[in-house]
Amino acid sequence: MELNTQSDWVARSLRSVWHPCTQMQHHETVPLIPVSRGKGAWLYDHEGRRYLDAISSWWVNLFGHANSRINAALKDQLDTLEHAMLAGFTHEPVIELSEKLSALTGHVLGHSFYASDGASAVEIALKMSFHSWRNNGHTDKQEFVCLKGSYHGETIGALAVTDVALFKDAYGPLLRASQTVMSPDARQAADGETAQDVARRAAADVERLFTERADKIAAIIIEPLVQCATGMAMHDPLYLQLVRALCDKHNVHLILDEIAVGCGRTGTFFACEQAAVWPDFLCLSKGISGGYLPLSLVMTRDEIYQAFYSNDVTRGFLHSHSYTGNPLACRAALATLQIFEEDDVLNANKIKAARLTAALQPLAQHEQVHNFRQRGMIWAFDAIDAPKDFSRRFFATATEHELLMRPIGSTVYMMPPYILSDEEIDGLAANTLAVFNKVLAG
Ligand SMILES: *Cc1c(COP(=O)(O)O)cnc(C)c1O
Repeated sequence: MELNTQSDWVARSLRSVWHPCTQMQHHETVPLIPVSRGKGAWLYDHEGRRYLDAISSWWVNLFGHANSRINAALKDQLDTLEHAMLAGFTHEPVIELSEKLSALTGHVLGHSFYASDGASAVEIALKMSFHSWRNNGHTDKQEFVCLKGSYHGETIGALAVTDVALFKDAYGPLLRASQTVMSPDARQAADGETAQDVARRAAADVERLFTERADKIAAIIIEPLVQCATGMAMHDPLYLQLVRALCDKHNVHLILDEIAVGCGRTGTFFACEQAAVWPDFLCLSKGISGGYLPLSLVMTRDEIYQAFYSNDVTRGFLHSHSYTGNPLACRAALATLQIFEEDDVLNANKIKAARLTAALQPLAQHEQVHNFRQRGMIWAFDAIDAPKDFSRRFFATATEHELLMRPIGSTVYMMPPYILSDEEIDGLAANTLAVFNKVLAG
């Protein structure tokens, strides 16, 4: 029998695992937490302590850990087909998933192309955009436009359209330059200005760039409604409508990266539904498999699909990943979509969101809080006069209050799984307030 204790697991992990997005030396002071199991919204360590997964394990977990319905679907799939390559072969889970997703867009985005992680989906959208222009004779369209504060993943191509200095600067020499336009972040509103005014100003910046050089631009890539990794910067849906119109007018593709904001997170299944626009490419990952297996995909319009359809091999989209369309991951996604249907999740979330917003009012009114904001199942606020190392101290203090939370700089945010009970919602709010006060008090 294994006799490993909590501290054995920590020591062994630090000796052999290189953890993501981490300065490993910080683990000399910040605890590394070995998780032994998960159930519902909770993760448990080896000493029986528990942590409410208030950030859905980086956005992925929608319906709780060890969800019985997703588990049952996966167990069935395991005994049927674990994997088969998707070139020359196809299978039921990938077909059904593609059909269901297409239907969710009213069949505007008729084809789905699969990969495993979000950054790869972004790379695929960029390559497809460039290649479809080329196939149509527009060989000069080689540039991409991103927003200030954008985050689209950390592979070399995705990082080129990312604007988060902490992730990007060290690799600057490796990256292909992209054009960066103003963010529509509503926090930039001047006195008397509304979020819509900021959206108009940001769209004017896009218009300026498109007017100058649209003949060189393949696509603009946007995280619709919420720019997440930069610190939950939220904007008015009007921005998406204005940019969609500019893309149509100037012949530029619109790529919407719904990797974080998709799957009901902002209140509608796709964030862009709130602007009543569809992109030319839509990237999806994270929550789509319910937090079970790596799965990402790019949905696109039939005109774009047709631009590759030919007798000529080189006009095809010759991109692949070994696990493209993995049946287990697709089956997890199908089980996830089924829960959305069976439980009327989008409506149920409205009630949960109203309760958490109400419970968070002491924080919204806190004298050291500004920009309290919410969209769908995402909440964020900025700390005023945050002490040095606020984010790491908050994380460590939160673990002492049964919470898993990781602020970005001085922005505290939560995007919990969609299955919180009333008691868990109230506990999340009360504990967040307690942690916040403790960290500010030093
Ligand atoms: C997480 C994220 C990505 C990258 O996805 P990975 O699976 O981490 O590669 C891309 N875009 C957005 C908006 C994200 O939040």
